[in-house]
Amino acid sequence: MTEERKPLNFIEQIIEEDLQNGYEREELKFRFPPEPNGYLHIGHASSINLNFGLGLRYNAPVNLRFDDTNPIKEEQEFVDAIKRDVEWLGFKWEKECYASDYFQQLYDWAVAMIKNGDAYVDSQASEQIAQQKGTPTQPGSASPYRDRSVEENLSLFEAMKNGETAEGAHVLRAKIDMASSNMLMRDPVMYRTLHKAHHRTNNDWKIYPMYDWAHGESDFIESVSHSFCTLEFLPHRELYNWFLEKVNQPKQLQPKQREFARRNLSHTIVSKRKLAQLVEKKVVESWDDPRMPTISGLRRRGYTANSIKKFAETIGVGKRENVIDMSHLEFCAREDLNKTASRVMAVLDPLKVVITNYEEGAEEWLEAENNPEDETAGSREVPFSKEIYIEQADFKEEANRKFFRLTLGKEVRLKNAYIIKGESVVKDDDGNIVEVHCTYDPKSKSGSGTEESQRKVKGTLHWVSIPHAVKAEVRLYDRLFTVESPDADKDKKFIDFVNPDSLQTIVGYVEPSLKNAKELEHFQFQRIGYFCADQSTSLEKPVFNRTVSLRDSWVKKSN
Ligand code: ATP
Ligand code: MG
Repeated sequence: MTEERKPLNFIEQIIEEDLQNGYEREELKFRFPPEPNGYLHIGHASSINLNFGLGLRYNAPVNLRFDDTNPIKEEQEFVDAIKRDVEWLGFKWEKECYASDYFQQLYDWAVAMIKNGDAYVDSQASEQIAQQKGTPTQPGSASPYRDRSVEENLSLFEAMKNGETAEGAHVLRAKIDMASSNMLMRDPVMYRTLHKAHHRTNNDWKIYPMYDWAHGESDFIESVSHSFCTLEFLPHRELYNWFLEKVNQPKQLQPKQREFARRNLSHTIVSKRKLAQLVEKKVVESWDDPRMPTISGLRRRGYTANSIKKFAETIGVGKRENVIDMSHLEFCAREDLNKTASRVMAVLDPLKVVITNYEEGAEEWLEAENNPEDETAGSREVPFSKEIYIEQADFKEEANRKFFRLTLGKEVRLKNAYIIKGESVVKDDDGNIVEVHCTYDPKSKSGSGTEESQRKVKGTLHWVSIPHAVKAEVRLYDRLFTVESPDADKDKKFIDFVNPDSLQTIVGYVEPSLKNAKELEHFQFQRIGYFCADQSTSLEKPVFNRTVSLRDSWVKKSN
């Protein structure tokens, strides 16, 4: 078999060109740089897959770098969750790094910049600084503090660092060009004063570096060769390079920032800040609520690491932003779970069926294959008895010829069991059907090898034996938002589009083997969908989350 070679994506082309132009393979190094201000989401999966995927492809190290420069929003809880998620996806980082570990080095470099006349302390209010920025077509104007002496700058900067100045009283700015056509080059802020404790450096620092200042230098410190970020950072590239040049590093060793398009997913939100609002406003239970597009929410929902990686892989990297339909993610889940999930029987909307010619009190344990897609998955036994549940939707008192489920006078097969025939119904005073009476063909047992066992009938139904059935809580999840792009409408808040029916909790009846389901174990409830045992599942009260429904493809298929 010849291995299919995929064409290089544009990021890989950039690396290949660099290798041709003198980069050594050993110099390649990447990083994934999350800010620990929330949980990772499906958009991050693209960036993780890109960076760690490059590491695997080029046998190059990849650092996990926490971009922890803003103590107001960052927490240890988020650091822990991010590590857990990257690990769960199956990737290994070379080093666990923190921008906060470089605070001293960054400070020293900033002092050197002040000495070289490349940075100054501005003592204006932030509103004033913003007003002087100009517009894309008009140059900005200089701050009255722009030409402060080096000595004054140094002593003020030190006072800021020591917490002797109030928050907002001063900032350190790079001295670049107030007339630059790139607004980001108009003397950007490098440091602000924040009298806030940091989750790692506690109260050691009263000044915190801005993203643009910290990011490139962190890449440099770690000898990252290629620093990939999303497209909105394209105009920041000039500043990224300017800082690197100012700290006087030899040009050939400088990391390279390159940009790729952010990935969006339909019917959801991929922004930590907005997802945080859903948690804070209790629209969802937690960051790992199975409706959340977070990696941890998807995991709890029943998505496998493979299905998420496959998703990221197939959408690839692009140069233009777009919205990927949620159905593609669902497709990736079905494809993977079809190979790996055990088939089991569960009835979610029960209708009682009495098999009149089956012996009262008798029970049989019938062999059931665990996964027809996987020979090694083996089989288990499911109990059968005189009284069973089937789904309400699988019976009609009167039906046309296209209805291949149970009706009066017609035969269907019970999966792994016998062929039964509808005989009569029992109704309550309001005329609702409360029981269906059937007869079964004792010779038709699945897998028994008799002629009757091979008899073809049009429909196959799943079922559970009533005396053996286990009551389970089943959580049916739907899309979290009713519209495709909840944050596209400028006049409405994304929260206004939350789907009020995104969670329906019901009681289902499941086969007894599911009592022992382990947290995160995946199942196919036959003919219904893929489900996963919730973290709260227990022997006394099993709980299942619906990952994704099945396309109802095997109604017509009989066994
Ligand atoms: P958010 O707005 O959700 O906080 P972010 O870009 O601020 O996203 P970071 O923690 O800074 O989040 O992201 C870490 C890396 O993941 C960055 O390189 C970022 O560009 C990338 N990333 C974030 N969101 C997406 C997305 N939707 N698609 C692709 N890459 C993304
Ligand atoms: Mg960010």
